[in-house]
Amino acid sequence: MSQQETKHVHPETAVLTSGFDPSLSVGSARPAVFRSSTYVFSSPEAAERAFDVATGRKSAVSGEHVDLIYARINHPNAQILEEQILALEPGAASALVFNSGMAAIMTALMAYLRPGDAIVHTSPLYGGTEHLVEEYLKEWGIHAVEVRAGDQEALDRAIRETLRVKVVFIETPANPTLVMTDLRAAAESAASISPKPVVMVDNTFLGPAFQHPFVHGADLVLYSATKYLGGFSDIIGGVALAKDPAMLAPLRSLRVLFGNIMQPDECWILDSRLPTVTLRMNRQSKSAQRIAEALDGNPAIARVLYPTLLEDAEQSRIFHSQCDFPGAMFTIELKGGKQAAFDFLRALKIARNAVSLGGVETLACHPLTTTHSGFSAEESAFAGITDGMVRVSIGIEDWRDLLADFEQALKAVHLPPRSAS
Ligand SMILES: *Cc1c(COP(=O)(O)O)cnc(C)c1O
Repeated sequence: MSQQETKHVHPETAVLTSGFDPSLSVGSARPAVFRSSTYVFSSPEAAERAFDVATGRKSAVSGEHVDLIYARINHPNAQILEEQILALEPGAASALVFNSGMAAIMTALMAYLRPGDAIVHTSPLYGGTEHLVEEYLKEWGIHAVEVRAGDQEALDRAIRETLRVKVVFIETPANPTLVMTDLRAAAESAASISPKPVVMVDNTFLGPAFQHPFVHGADLVLYSATKYLGGFSDIIGGVALAKDPAMLAPLRSLRVLFGNIMQPDECWILDSRLPTVTLRMNRQSKSAQRIAEALDGNPAIARVLYPTLLEDAEQSRIFHSQCDFPGAMFTIELKGGKQAAFDFLRALKIARNAVSLGGVETLACHPLTTTHSGFSAEESAFAGITDGMVRVSIGIEDWRDLLADFEQALKAVHLPPRSAS
């Protein structure tokens, strides 16, 4: 089907029918892998044209076939993946693939920030992103203003009052606290100032199936494809998407300079995972909801952090207005602190003690000593990450086996001594 014909089908159909032309892969029904580092030009004139277009001196006209040059610049498997992934992100017009989620995030930030500029971001962020923004980019003279996730008023104020704010960076729900940020409200705050900062959303936690940031006004959507998109915990990758292709142009140039395009084999693997991402995420979310709700009230647990268990009315409103499903991630806060969290992790038999998320196998980790161990005590307190928290990513195992595993592990937890009264 042509792009035009697939406009009116659903994403699960479009991902299998658009963006790939079998005639360019000798009739193969699924894409072939093209590992070449360099490409033979059809003529010297075509080579000249390819360089003019690749360097941005000239732009390709619609429907024009421009020769490929060299695989650090572009290659067929990246092009196929970038076309096919569009179907999964409503509103996206263009995509770029990177060799990790951090590569996509770093390249996006370097494209839109210069010394003296500022970035406003929600907190907590993914540990790597937090480190990048709060430490590394600060040394390059980029000012960072962090706002506690869920504090809409503070986010609005920070966007309006920070000098030279060029990027608003949001992760929602936050990792590992699952606190929600209202994307539409943030996009409106950004649109009210001039020049308008670029609104970037790291959609790794609920996307691409359950949360669609372009629909709520985001400019760039970023992914760690290592998580749900890859889905089997066997590949590292990243994606940046935009609703205006021109917004990806500076990232595209930097990707050539940084050399961080996703490699052909990885593109081919990731492409094969796209048609099942919605299936997997639906199953994972349904299981996670059953388990999270069943664990709520367990005597060893102080709180279960999960979108369907939100107590705050405003948080619940955001969840219902911008997410289709609650997702496969929840965090339990054990009453016995770090000791109880470690006991729990040690006692798990099915779920494995590992970082990362979104895969078909269930994983659990202690954020404060692993993914967020780079946070200072003040940063963790600010972000609401406590030592009793265990973050869980539910896979596609039978949910009843997982629930039984969690329940037996909770029995192994030493409850804190009752206060002498
Ligand atoms: C894993 C993750 C990243 C980083 O992605 P990599 O593929 O590991 O580089 C960024 N953001 C979020 C929310 C993540 O979970």
